[in-house]
Amino acid sequence: KELSSAEFRQMFLDFFKSKGHDVEPSASLVPHDDPTLLWINSGVATLKKYFDGTVIPKNPRITNAQKSIRTNDIENVGKTARHQTFFEMLGNFSVGDYFKEDAIPWAWEFLTSTKWLDLDPAKLYVTVYPKDTEAQRIWHEVVGLPADHIIKVEDNFWDIGEGPSGPDSEIFYDRGQEFNNVAEDDPENYPGGENERYLELWNIVFSEFNHLADGRYVEQPHKNIDTGMGLERVVSVLQHAPTNFETDLFMPIIHRTEEISGQVKYGDAEKTDIAFKIIADHARAVSFAIGDGALPSNEGRGYVLRRLIRRAVLNGRRLGIDKPFLFELVAVVGKIMNSYYPEVEAQEGFIAKVIKSEEVRFSATLTDGLALLNQLIATQKAANKTVIDGSDAFKLFDTFGFPIELTVEYADEEGLTVNQAEFDQAMAEQKNRARAARGDLQSMGSQNETLMALKEPSEFVGYDNLTISDAKLV
Ligand code: ATP
Ligand code: MG
Ligand code: MG
Ligand code: MG
Repeated sequence: KELSSAEFRQMFLDFFKSKGHDVEPSASLVPHDDPTLLWINSGVATLKKYFDGTVIPKNPRITNAQKSIRTNDIENVGKTARHQTFFEMLGNFSVGDYFKEDAIPWAWEFLTSTKWLDLDPAKLYVTVYPKDTEAQRIWHEVVGLPADHIIKVEDNFWDIGEGPSGPDSEIFYDRGQEFNNVAEDDPENYPGGENERYLELWNIVFSEFNHLADGRYVEQPHKNIDTGMGLERVVSVLQHAPTNFETDLFMPIIHRTEEISGQVKYGDAEKTDIAFKIIADHARAVSFAIGDGALPSNEGRGYVLRRLIRRAVLNGRRLGIDKPFLFELVAVVGKIMNSYYPEVEAQEGFIAKVIKSEEVRFSATLTDGLALLNQLIATQKAANKTVIDGSDAFKLFDTFGFPIELTVEYADEEGLTVNQAEFDQAMAEQKNRARAARGDLQSMGSQNETLMALKEPSEFVGYDNLTISDAKLV
C-alpha cells in the first residue's frame, strides 16, 4: 500500500523520535526574530537560536517538519518535476551531540529499512565532498554503499567566509532514464547535475569547522548536524508520480481547478499542465503565507504575495478562467494539510477573503494594462514598426503588474516582438536600486545560505519590530 503524505510525514518524525529526538512544531513562515530573512526557507532557519547558542535546547536532538517558501525557485515551478515555491522540509538536527557516524547510517536506515521507507538501495546515490574521507568511509564501509554510488562533488562544502563551515552529503534517487530531460551520455547526467533523472531528496550538512578571519579552518569543539529532506519529492517517489504534483498533496487542488475551468483538463497539453501546477503551488503558498500573518502589499513579503497571486490569476486565464477563483482553492488546501497544519482550515474565511480582494484588484490593473498594451501595438503598427520598446514593457511590468512573458506572448500574437535587452536593462537598474537600498538582506535561496546568518549573533528584535524589518527590505 502506498503511503499518504500525512503518513509519511509522521513516519519521519516517529523515526527520529525513536532515535531520541524531540519533535519541534513547524514555526511560522514569517520569521519573527530574524530580520535577515524574508521567509523561512528551510528547517534550520527556525532553529538558529540553538545553533548560535542564544538558546540551549532541552534536548540537543531535534526533528521537525517545517513549512518553507523559496521565491528563488518561482521560475522552476511547473517546469521542473521537483520545485515549488512552498514546500515542507523534514529535518533532524544535532546541536553539538551526534555527528556523521550516526547521522549517515540513520538516514540510510530510514530510507531503506523495510520497517521504514523501504526504498530500493540500488536506486540511491550520494554526493560527498572530495576531501571528506570520513563521510566516504561511513557511506562505503558502515552503510555498505558501493563506491560507484558515492560521487565526489567539489561544491559539497558550505563556506560562508568567517564562521561555521563544513562538508555536506546529498542523497539522490534514480528515477530512471525515462524521466530524464538530458541524454544518457550528457555530461550533466549524474546525481547532482542539471537533469531530471537523479532527484535530490535529502541534504545532510556536517558543520565541523570554524573558518577564521585569517583563512584557517579549525575544528569546532561542538560539531553540529543539520539535515533537510523535501517532503513532496519523497512523496512523489512513494506515490510513483512523474512530478511532485501528481500526488495527494496537489491533485485535489488541480481537480478543483479543472472544475472551475470547465473547459481544460489536466493532461490536455504541456502548457496548460504548467498553468495547473503553478496555480496549485501558488494556492498553497499564499494560503499558508496569509495564514501566518503576511498580507499583500507593494513591498517585501507583501509584494511576493501579490506577485504569486497575480501569477496564479494570469495562469487561470490560460485555462479560460476569467473570474476570481484562487480564493476557492483555500478550502481544498486547508483540507489536504489539516492533519499537521490546522491553521489554514481554521482561518479559511479570512484567507479566502484576502485573496479574493487581491484577485478583484488585479483584474482592474490587468484590464488597464491590456488597454495600454493594445494602444502600444496600434501605435507601432501605424508607424510600421514591429518592436515594442523595453521601457514600455517595463512600464507594463512595473506599473500594471504585467509579467514580461505575458507582454511578449501578447505582442507575438499581433506579429510584434519586445526589446528584451532594454527591458532587462531597466529591470537590472531597478534591482540595483533595490539591492542598494536593502544592503545585505538578500532573499535566502538555500539551506546553506541560511547558515550564513549564523555568523551574525541573532538578536531577538521582538514581534513589534516586524514593520521595521519590512521597511528595510523594500
Ligand atoms: P535543488 O538542487 O533541487 O534545487 P537544493 O540543493 O537547492 O535543491 P537544499 O537547499 O539542499 O535544496 O534543501 C534541502 C532539501 O529541500 C532538498 O534536498 C530538497 O529535497 C528540498 N527542496 C529544496 N528546494 C525545494 C523546492 N523549491 N521545492 C521542493 N523541495 C525543495
Ligand atoms: Mg541541490
Ligand atoms: Mg541541496
Ligand atoms: Mg535549489
